Amino acid sequence: MHLLTLFFREHAFSYKTFEDHLCDILSDGQGKVPLSKFMTGLRNTGLSKDDPRLLESMTKFRQAVEATSEELEGKEVFLDRATFKDCIKDNIVLIRRAFTADFVIPEFSKFCSVIDDIYWMCRTNTNGRVASYIPQLSRYSADIWGVALCTIDGQRHRIGDTKMPFSVQSCTKPINYALALNELGHDVVHEYVGYEPSGSSFNNIKLGHKRKPHNPMNNAGALVVSSLIKSGLKLSDRFDHVHNQYTKLTGGEYVGFNNAIFLSEREISDHKFALGYYLKDNKCFPDGLNLHEIMDFYFQLCSIELTLEAGSVIAATLANGGYCPITGEQVLDATSVRNTLAVMHSCGMYQYSGEFAFRVGLPAKSGASGVVLLVVPNVCGIATWSPPLDSCSNSVRGVQFCEELVQLFNFHHYDNLKHTLQKYDPRIRSADFQGSQVVKLLFGAYNGDISALRRMALTDQDMSIADYDGRTALHLAAAEGQLDCVKFLLEKCQVPPNPRDRWGHTPLDDAVQFQRQDVRQYLDGHLAQHPSVAYSAIPTDFPSDSFSEIVYKDITDD
Ligand code: GLN
Repeated sequence: MHLLTLFFREHAFSYKTFEDHLCDILSDGQGKVPLSKFMTGLRNTGLSKDDPRLLESMTKFRQAVEATSEELEGKEVFLDRATFKDCIKDNIVLIRRAFTADFVIPEFSKFCSVIDDIYWMCRTNTNGRVASYIPQLSRYSADIWGVALCTIDGQRHRIGDTKMPFSVQSCTKPINYALALNELGHDVVHEYVGYEPSGSSFNNIKLGHKRKPHNPMNNAGALVVSSLIKSGLKLSDRFDHVHNQYTKLTGGEYVGFNNAIFLSEREISDHKFALGYYLKDNKCFPDGLNLHEIMDFYFQLCSIELTLEAGSVIAATLANGGYCPITGEQVLDATSVRNTLAVMHSCGMYQYSGEFAFRVGLPAKSGASGVVLLVVPNVCGIATWSPPLDSCSNSVRGVQFCEELVQLFNFHHYDNLKHTLQKYDPRIRSADFQGSQVVKLLFGAYNGDISALRRMALTDQDMSIADYDGRTALHLAAAEGQLDCVKFLLEKCQVPPNPRDRWGHTPLDDAVQFQRQDVRQYLDGHLAQHPSVAYSAIPTDFPSDSFSEIVYKDITDD
């Protein structure tokens, strides 16, 4: 991005409101705004028209559409400027952020197309077997495959089977753990449960250090954690409480309950009862516990249903420190979320947890229904669903998706953000990155900051790069009389000595115009030794106006 663009970003709205700008850019030439263009633009930034943060604007748009006399079916609706501005004004902060690409993933369409590629790649994988320990799970089709994603700014994307509800199964474990931490604090919860991966199957009848369940992600730990949630209340109220918390975590999206799954879970519960009695015998539960009630509670929690879209918002709430991205409500405190993510990272993927942490390096949890909740802290939450499981009980396609994702994006916890060059960082706008490099370089030359130039040269920066006006570091160093920088650029970086800016000026012209005698002499000498043809340095790939570029590109990228 060039200097003018940065200036534009800072000051463009001081003489014209953002609303006016948006109208100008979207309007059809007769001053009217085609509604579909606005909606497409919004969608391409990642916002859904059902986003609760857009409720007021969407209601007004609906009313405005109803008020138009045009036949609605398939016809474009044009809104006059005043109506359009009135519709957007109630949610202007979010709309402005969307259209100025001020979200964690600024180039969202581009990011989503990579997500779609991974989705299609995993679709062809037909390995694994659908869980069969209860009939309701065994009836899931092996072909079901969906991915939903929500960023910490509430940008949404979905592909495949994302509307069908599924039971959360073991994905209830991290959520219950987070709720328990949030209500009781870490010290109380960890009086009852440890932190260590057990290395054995999730339903093993086995205790860890100090005769506590190993961690909250296996069945022993999950039973104990469930017993801690609102332990003073009646079972019905405890369930209501958890259901309400789920609803808040999903920002009001679908949270259901599958009674058939609950009944089946209870019917085949001998092994879990054996575990329950073993835990009780070892004094793992709080005093006065009714084991049958806790078993029921646990089966009910496993039978909660979500859609992938709802699951992705839960994962995004975890990625966002406990604040639901689409409502802004704080559901969990940030420390409870951090602790939950830490345990998911080490214990969330059954006996594959170590390898998953190694390969993917992100907190995740899977469930026997074939769901995987994946959290990219401070970026997004992803939910995938595909019923066929591998030998560790993880969804085959879900695991493959996570592994492919970190091959392409630098999301692995231990990816180095600066030097992992072969991976894509979707948090950065490529044009911004290029723009900020030009600004740094040009300011370095202008100020005579030779060490800044040296640092940039060492990172392989193109030292001859020009801004929108074709001004290069050499022009600025020459115009400001920064002889050391001029020498450094020509001798060490071997930049071309004769670039022409927008007005046809070369660095030598600048040295002459601003009477920099020493630079002028040096450049004369250098050019005598290295005769060089002048060339235009004006870049051809810069947009003429960054704001319309963002909006226009997002609109047209449908
Ligand atoms: N309800 C299941 C159980 O505890 C959860 C299993 C799972 O998701 N792995 O057996």
